Amino acid sequence: MTSPLIDTHAHLDFDRFDADRQDVILRAGEARVVGIINIAIDYESAKKSIAIAERFPNIYATVGVHPHDVAQIDEEQLGPLRELLDHPKVVAIGEVGLDFYRNISPPEVQRRYLRLFLGWARETGKPLVIHTREAEEDVLAILKEQNNSGWRGVFHCFSGDLKMAGKVLDLGFFISFTGNITFKNSRSVEVMREVPIEKMLLETDSPFLSPVPHRGKRNEPAYLHYVAQKIAEVKGLPMDEVARITSENAQELFGFRLMNIE
Ligand SMILES: [Zn+2]
Repeated sequence: MTSPLIDTHAHLDFDRFDADRQDVILRAGEARVVGIINIAIDYESAKKSIAIAERFPNIYATVGVHPHDVAQIDEEQLGPLRELLDHPKVVAIGEVGLDFYRNISPPEVQRRYLRLFLGWARETGKPLVIHTREAEEDVLAILKEQNNSGWRGVFHCFSGDLKMAGKVLDLGFFISFTGNITFKNSRSVEVMREVPIEKMLLETDSPFLSPVPHRGKRNEPAYLHYVAQKIAEVKGLPMDEVARITSENAQELFGFRLMNIE
């Protein structure tokens, strides 16, 4: 395989990588995972993500607050959080969205902050990294409140059905798949088959959702090829085509070009 892969959703700032973060990034490169987007979940995580991105040319960061964590937002942090968006290595707003599966933050608080972050996306023109669980229709309704067109972003770790995928694509979003598509009885096969590869992104969501054969253990970007392989199988495409096109998609959406550092 010659084309590089891009892991569009990893959390390398988490404590679980403190002991060996450098090795994890090295192993990613050895596995041809050349680019990584490190996704923030709150203000502290955004600062750490940016610090990692500053050290590695092909690692980028995002700024946002996960729906689980919005109830903990200190209003005084919103100004500084918004300012981080101007950092040159911050390529998106995320992860933001609604999670009514666990409801760790009250739904009304989740909705209020999602609207705020959508406003930031409008102001800055940056794409959105959307997290949604058992709240897809609600996220779509909020996206449509403002304007049906002109949204850019990705629904990460997509687990909806084909009908939902169609609605997401209609709004201009990409759909991203993670290691859970390698699990037995994955419900995503039909979606993977029908969604054009030109609208797909790959991600690990490290440290979560390790693909088979690493299921249950800590995930890392080096395992991204299992996700690419599964999509290649389902779509009947050569692995290198999946790598090439999804890497092109990621660079187009997030507005950067991979640097050749070999
Ligand atoms: Zn995530």
